[in-house]
Amino acid sequence: MPLSHRTSGSTARDDYLEQILHLIEEKGYARPIDISKKLEISQASVTNMLLKLDKEGLVKHEKYRGTTLTKEGLSIAKAIIDRHETLTRFLELFDIDKDTIYRDVEGMEHHVSRATLEAIRALADHLQAHPDTLAAIKSIQSTSLD
Ligand code: MN
Repeated sequence: MPLSHRTSGSTARDDYLEQILHLIEEKGYARPIDISKKLEISQASVTNMLLKLDKEGLVKHEKYRGTTLTKEGLSIAKAIIDRHETLTRFLELFDIDKDTIYRDVEGMEHHVSRATLEAIRALADHLQAHPDTLAAIKSIQSTSLD
């Protein structure tokens, strides 16, 4: 299965892996307290989940050194981030406000099928390359929003 198609099959797991990779990229490490802030989940719950993800072979959880991703965890995290970026890129074409886009994407990224994601990716690519088509669609969009 291509990387960009993968999820863990669980919304919570996907969110953890996604945020752990963001933290590692930002700070070089992912500590439970930072994961807890990003996901707005208590530190105790975060620690429990990290132990579970460690057992499943998706992260390496070391109490004092932070959490790293295994190869498997990393490929799922990258796929979720790719989904997030593709869906965001598509919705941003339509001037939807950023908070709405973020909320919608956080839901959609877990549930959209592979086939639909690839259709949205193709559509986003095409509309970015063809501003006239985008403008034509947006003229209908504004009418229907009035
Ligand atoms: Mn996301």
